[in-house]
Amino acid sequence: MKKINFSAGPSILPQVVFEQLSEAVLNYNNMGVSILEISHRSKAFDDIIERAFALVRELYSLTDDYEVLFLTGGASMQFCQVPYNLLPENELAAYLDTGKWSIKAIQEAKLFGKTQVVATSKDKNYTYVPKNYELDPKSIYFHITTNNTIYGTQIHDIPDVHCPLIADMSSDIFSKPLENLSKYGIIYAGAQKNTGPAGTTLVIIRKDMLGKVKRAIPTMLNYQTHIDKRSLFNTPPVYAIYGCLLTLEWAKAQGLKTLEQRNQEKASTLYKEIDRNGLFEGVVAEADRSIMNVTFVGKNTDLDDKFLAMTETANCVAIKGHRSVGGFRASLYNAMDLAGVQTLVEVMQEFERKFG
Ligand SMILES: *Cc1c(COP(=O)(O)O)cnc(C)c1O
Repeated sequence: MKKINFSAGPSILPQVVFEQLSEAVLNYNNMGVSILEISHRSKAFDDIIERAFALVRELYSLTDDYEVLFLTGGASMQFCQVPYNLLPENELAAYLDTGKWSIKAIQEAKLFGKTQVVATSKDKNYTYVPKNYELDPKSIYFHITTNNTIYGTQIHDIPDVHCPLIADMSSDIFSKPLENLSKYGIIYAGAQKNTGPAGTTLVIIRKDMLGKVKRAIPTMLNYQTHIDKRSLFNTPPVYAIYGCLLTLEWAKAQGLKTLEQRNQEKASTLYKEIDRNGLFEGVVAEADRSIMNVTFVGKNTDLDDKFLAMTETANCVAIKGHRSVGGFRASLYNAMDLAGVQTLVEVMQEFERKFG
C-alpha cells in the first residue's frame, strides 16, 4: 500500500509524476530507449530541458533579465557559489540567520568577502523569524532562507531592502505565486523538496549580478559557464531534470494560486489540531509558522514513540522531527493532499482519546 509520506526531502511528488517517470525508465516517449540512456546532447533531452526552463519562466513570470539554470551540488553548493561569483573580497554581504541552512551559507560567504549577520533567532532555537533589523547600507546583497525546513518557520513578508535578495527557497519554491520578482538577485532551490527528484538545483539569476568580482572562478563553479552553455557544459542529471519538468507541468496544470490555497488549507488543518489537542503543542511563533514544514512536540515526550507507532499503523511515514529540534515534523509539500493531512489529524485525535 502506498504510504502517506511526510518526509522533509527527498519528498513526496505527484503520483502522476511517479508513473510518468517509471514509464520513462523503461521506454522514454516510445523511442525504445530508457530516459537513463539517452544522450544529454540529443534532441529528446534538448526538448526536456528547454521545456523545463520555459515552465520555470512561466510559473514565476520571469523577465529577460533573468537566467534559469539546472545545476548540481545541491542547495549546499549555492552557499559557496553565490559569494564566489558575487562577493568581491573587500565588499560586504548581509545574511539573516534563521537556522542551520543559513549558518552554512554564512560560513561559506566568509571565505570570499565580508559578512554581516543582521539578525539571528538563535536565542530561541530558531523558532521565530527575526524582524526589525537594519542592513549596513554598504551591503551588496542580502541572503535569506525563505522557509526553514528544520524548524518550521517561514518568512511571510519578504523584506524590502536597498540591495538585491539572494533567496534560498529550497523548501517553499513553487508553493505559491512569486511576488515582486525585481527584489531578487538570485533564487535557488535544491529540487528534492518541491521541484522534483534529488540530483539537481534550480538557480534563477538576474544577469546584472554577475561580472562584479575580479577573482578567478573555476569553470564549473562559474555561473557564466552554465549560462553560456544553457546548463549543458557537462553532463547534467538528465533523469532529475526530466522529473522536474514533469513536476512543473503538474504544478502549472494546478496553478500556483490554487496550490497556495491548498497549501494554506492543509497547514491550517494541521495547526488547528496541534492547538486543539491537549497532548501536543506547536513550537514556532504563530506569525512565522511555515505552511510547508509543520513542527510540533508532544507534551509528554515519554509518549513520543507510541505516537510514532500509531502514525505508522495509519500508513503515515517520516513524521519524526529533525534531530536538532526533536518532536515531530510533517512536511506538506505541493504533492501532499488534504486527505493525507486529515489522516494524520485523525491519528492525533485517536492518540488523545487513548492517552489524554
Ligand atoms: C534541504 C535544504 C538545503 C540543502 O539542500 P541540498 O540540496 O541537500 O544541498 C538547503 N537549504 C534549505 C532551506 C533546505 O531545505
